[in-house]
Amino acid sequence: MDLSKKTKDLAARDKKYLWHPFTQMQDWVKDDILIIESGSGCYLQDTDGKRYLDGVSSLWCNVHGHRVRAIEQAIQKQLRKIAHSTFLGLSNIPAIQLAERLVKIAPKGLARVFYSDSGSEAVEIALKMAFQYWQNRGEKKRRKFIRLTNAYHGDTIGSVSVGGIDLFHQIYQPLLFNTVPVQAPYRYRDSFLGTESGYLDHCTKKLEKVLRKHAKETVALVMEPLMQGAAGMINQPKGYISRARALTRKYNTFLIFDEVATGFGRTGKWFASDHEKVSPDILCVAKGITGGYLALAATLTTEEIYEAFLGSYQELKAFFHGHTYTANPLACRAALANLDLFRKEKVLERLQFKIKRFSEWLKELWSLKHVGDIRQVGFMVGIELVRNPLTKEPYDLKEQVGVRVIKQARKKGVILRPLGNVIVLMPPLAMRLSELKFLVNVVRESIREVTEG
Ligand SMILES: *Cc1c(COP(=O)(O)O)cnc(C)c1O
Repeated sequence: MDLSKKTKDLAARDKKYLWHPFTQMQDWVKDDILIIESGSGCYLQDTDGKRYLDGVSSLWCNVHGHRVRAIEQAIQKQLRKIAHSTFLGLSNIPAIQLAERLVKIAPKGLARVFYSDSGSEAVEIALKMAFQYWQNRGEKKRRKFIRLTNAYHGDTIGSVSVGGIDLFHQIYQPLLFNTVPVQAPYRYRDSFLGTESGYLDHCTKKLEKVLRKHAKETVALVMEPLMQGAAGMINQPKGYISRARALTRKYNTFLIFDEVATGFGRTGKWFASDHEKVSPDILCVAKGITGGYLALAATLTTEEIYEAFLGSYQELKAFFHGHTYTANPLACRAALANLDLFRKEKVLERLQFKIKRFSEWLKELWSLKHVGDIRQVGFMVGIELVRNPLTKEPYDLKEQVGVRVIKQARKKGVILRPLGNVIVLMPPLAMRLSELKFLVNVVRESIREVTEG
């Protein structure tokens, strides 16, 4: 493809000055790179005017598409008031309004909102909050966190400590604090044979064993509910989050849900917790909160946890955490406009039918020779590619099958991102049926061409 002079020039400067996240820059500088200049609806447009369907919601955060007038107007209106003022010692209007709205839609019992700027920070805050709760209450021995294997909670040192993706984070091992792992459900790669409810019991037993042994020194169990995203879209058996709730109650420790990926309609309900009417003690949200417009995150918790931080000034029980841009008014305005749109456009109601059609179309992919597993929860999908579906033998990572599939899809006008050998689909909730169908078709053809071609 012939690139314009403008694109070539920008690409050269990118390669000269930038360092991209999760990227082997040695490969980056050799390849043609895509530079996005604009977007509209579920499409992105590059510097040569070529359009691409955004199949991963600009990394799992876009909700209503790009160039959404209502969100843009809300941000512009706020800009004419003030862009930012600190939240340390001062308050602001959008942050107050948004907190009230978040508490209204959040699972029951979550009554307090602590803002930050990214999912990693929302998790970091949850960890510190839960830890300090026990310290403030005089339970000084509680220092451990229980986590699931294959978990992803962000890239800061604290959130990596409770994460479990060795591929990314192995190198940082010496810097991390100790945590207690529980084997996460992963039906496709588990040797367990039996029914879904049998598998639920099997996974619950593993969780209970660890909780029973460590509960007294444990601060909290941290997990992504319903589906572990970055691990490769690995879903949990029905009932697992309810069991996690019952067991953390039984053994008297906290339950932290990281809904950074699953929140704001992604699974078909406001929160993944809602599928089983579970209320965690702490809930972390980010990605979809502003509809994909600005950086904002929040950690919600109960009045009980909040109250353990109350005391006279010199007791030093306050929560000593905060960032420069905490509760940024522009971001909070975008979030309010995002929530308004959910109601006005009946996003969740309309999503149900789209999820059904999406599943039907995805079923067609089972006929491909190298599709081992297809996992879907709402608008979160993982397609696991394997060398041999009978033995489930994986592709060697060196073969970069996932990367090759997304390169093929890009030629056909779709932007995706793989997680190893898993092809991830995370379309904006606003994606139209015709676009969704196109997305699935392109994925099917791209997988076929790379694995069967
Ligand atoms: C993306 C993600 C994070 C990290 O969020 P950032 O905003 O990228 O820091 C944490 N937890 C889960 C489940 C995520 O998907």
